[in-house]
Amino acid sequence: MAKQKIIIAIDGYSACGKSTLAKALAKKLNYHFIDSGAMYRAITLYFLREGVSLGDEQAIGQALDHVKLSFENNQRTGDSEILLNGENVARAIRDMLVAEKVSEVAAIKAVRQAAVAQQQLMGKRRGIVMDGRDIGTVVFPDAELKIFMTADPAIRVKRRFEEQYEKDPAITIEEIKANLELRDYIDSNREESPLRKAKDAIVLDNSSLTRAEQLDKVLAWVKELQQPATA
Ligand code: C5P
Repeated sequence: MAKQKIIIAIDGYSACGKSTLAKALAKKLNYHFIDSGAMYRAITLYFLREGVSLGDEQAIGQALDHVKLSFENNQRTGDSEILLNGENVARAIRDMLVAEKVSEVAAIKAVRQAAVAQQQLMGKRRGIVMDGRDIGTVVFPDAELKIFMTADPAIRVKRRFEEQYEKDPAITIEEIKANLELRDYIDSNREESPLRKAKDAIVLDNSSLTRAEQLDKVLAWVKELQQPATA
């Protein structure tokens, strides 16, 4: 009998390695990986390009009507990359200008409603791994497996700095630290679906785990869930 396809929700603070884990899980299980943060980043990129004022509800509503998000597979790397109105913006959304604004944009109710509706539609086909901040609490409260990731803040800063430095050697570790702290603060304290651990989420602290170790750990949880219940 084919194994039951489940929904895996991964939430947690910025730069904990959520997407790395989600991507590896999806590959191993032959599931779809959806990076919900990329959606908020792409919307932010659109707002920045169009000069949308974050205090202007009408302008935000109109802008959201013009934002069409989709994902495509990069044939070379196998990565799922985000398209903004048909344009591949996978690289552009990693810019620090986007990182500096994204949490403010993601705190706007209309923005969240638009993103969550699309995420829930994507979940209908099941067999997905989605990472973000509100996946286990709001987007898929019934997900079969919910993981809340944490890691030592200093390790998170170091990891993100090394990643960002490759793209922008002018970046400093202080800038990265300030950005992660600010985003975590806004994400945890906003009114609309703040970052919270779902009651039934398993905490995964990967400060001292290798990528392979954390993948094995989670695959064991998935396997356990897929065992037929014994009477
Ligand atoms: O996951 P990533 O760090 O790329 O997400 C960028 C930002 O998008 C987060 O800091 C947060 O403000 C927002 N976000 C969110 N809800 C999600 C995913 C991301 O508010 N489900």
